[in-house]
Amino acid sequence: MSEPSARELSLVVHEIYASIQGESSFAGVPCAFVRTTGCDLRCSWCDTPHAFHGGTRMPRAEVVERALAFGTPLVEVTGGEPLLQPGAVPLLRELCDAGRTVLLETGGHLDVSRVDPRVHKIVDVKAPGSGESHKNRWENLRHLSVRDELKFVLLDRGDYEWMRGLIAERALDRLGPRLLASPVHGALAPAELVRWVLADRLLVRVNLQLHKYIWGADTQGV
Ligand code: SF4
Repeated sequence: MSEPSARELSLVVHEIYASIQGESSFAGVPCAFVRTTGCDLRCSWCDTPHAFHGGTRMPRAEVVERALAFGTPLVEVTGGEPLLQPGAVPLLRELCDAGRTVLLETGGHLDVSRVDPRVHKIVDVKAPGSGESHKNRWENLRHLSVRDELKFVLLDRGDYEWMRGLIAERALDRLGPRLLASPVHGALAPAELVRWVLADRLLVRVNLQLHKYIWGADTQGV
């Protein structure tokens, strides 16, 4: 095995904290979060622009130690965009080695093929309302399994119809990963989305951001 590069040995981290998991099939479960700094996308509805800049460069070993210290069964690596940093893939592996259930939130535009197969990958599919749908990396679909989840964040009816068309066109409901349909908080009413999903009998999981209902939309580090 080749020596790790210096860039893999540390990560620029925005915050490390414990809360409950707000989204995905793990919603409601106590979770430690590692939020990395930096993202090369600019989704119109992004709710973490504070993680675009700043942060602190930390040895990877310290990131692991701090994440595990919370003693939660789940650890999520999120951002920003974690996969921009060479240290993210080994970090995910080490968290798995420590016996935790590990989640990765990624924007869906970067290669996920090197991510440890034990990691539950939650991969965004950017709908047109994000302004970034031309960046979706469709090759990633080949590297997803039943433990992974595809997340559509939906701004409006147009995004919903785009998602519905894509599920049919690419048979995403038969591919394996769970499909999450997540209304943009404050822009698309969850009840409206639920009505559309029921009317179309769409096999998606409506995904609300629990943490925003508990602590409010703009709170960080909870
Ligand atoms: S990929 Fe995530 S962090 Fe980056 S701009 Fe989009 S929502 Fe924000």
